[in-house]
Amino acid sequence: MRTTPILLLIAISLAAQSKSDPARVARVLSQAVVVDLHDDTTQMITDEAYNLAEQHDFGQIDIPRMKVGHVAGLFLSIWTDTVAFTPSEAVHRTLLQIDSVRREIARHPAELELATTADQIVAARQHGHIAMLMGVEGGHAIDSDLAILRTYYQLGARYMTLTHTNHTPWADTSSKPPVHNGLTDFGRQVVREMNRLGMMVDISHVSDKTFYDVLATSAAPVIASHSSCRALANAPRNMTDDMLRAIAAKNGVVHINFYEAFLDGNYASRLKGLTAEAAEQAAIDKKTPKFGDRSNYGPESRKVNAKIIAKLGRVPLSKLLDHFEHAVKVAGIDHVGLGSDFDGVEDALPQGMEDISKFPNLVAGLMDRGFSDADIVKILGGNTLRVMRDVEKAAK
Ligand SMILES: [Zn+2]
Repeated sequence: MRTTPILLLIAISLAAQSKSDPARVARVLSQAVVVDLHDDTTQMITDEAYNLAEQHDFGQIDIPRMKVGHVAGLFLSIWTDTVAFTPSEAVHRTLLQIDSVRREIARHPAELELATTADQIVAARQHGHIAMLMGVEGGHAIDSDLAILRTYYQLGARYMTLTHTNHTPWADTSSKPPVHNGLTDFGRQVVREMNRLGMMVDISHVSDKTFYDVLATSAAPVIASHSSCRALANAPRNMTDDMLRAIAAKNGVVHINFYEAFLDGNYASRLKGLTAEAAEQAAIDKKTPKFGDRSNYGPESRKVNAKIIAKLGRVPLSKLLDHFEHAVKVAGIDHVGLGSDFDGVEDALPQGMEDISKFPNLVAGLMDRGFSDADIVKILGGNTLRVMRDVEKAAK
């Protein structure tokens, strides 16, 4: 029986495919272009002179840890607090952050490269650099002026999240009872202008009605830069199955958020018992009113966060894998990506996903769930590169 050994070899190799091992993880990471769509390190760069080149024992992102995580491209979020800042102050604060990000990238030319297109991410990787990109989080930052939106695009921002946790004058957030019934006429103009520029429209944070209005308006695929699955954790920020299918039908991508509160429906009630830590944090916030809800930043806040995580523990990595698996099952393998929210969610991240150096654990976990190498390469960044190219092509 000459064929038996061949069949046996096929069987062995199929069995090997269904499990992770370090060599397979390394191979997939070397094939993939790993892109994380949402990271909040910007505030530390702007306010604390955080040096990306140094390895830190706090925060979740720096160059040494990105290298271990095999990161090819990373979107820094340009986020401005909607409570503390007036709209015109938000414009100022946004420009300040774009400036500090661009200067930080320029300060490390041997490792980092500013990128604004999918091709530039791939090129940076070929140069041995990590591509750094920018996304504006919260449409309030344009102060209801398309000229300011266009200026952010010119400065390098390649997506805008239409709202943060407050309504803009033209779009409802998911965090408050609606006031606009979704997107206003001006909100539709914002979406069309983003389409014309080639800027990705990000529907993380918006209300369900705003979401469907955006999908009906946008000529290009849309993204959720950092959202998880509502069927698994009932947060209004998460995507329902119907929303997952709707994004897929428009050829968009949902980038899964790693924040425990969006992975585990019980997280908020577990947090409720920690009244002493909440009071400590409130006192810190009071001292820095201009930066009222920048609770995850600053050394004092970090100490409180460390106490919280020591008391609560972390959810297992399996919770995060559940969200990837569910999103792929509902939206399809071509419509899921990474939107960690690192440095934006205190230390509330799953076990084994404490910072960006841990991406290999995610890859191993996906392998153990039976994902093929090709599937994992799509999730890690292939899908993101595709949606970026589609949005770039749709620009006029
Ligand atoms: Zn966010």
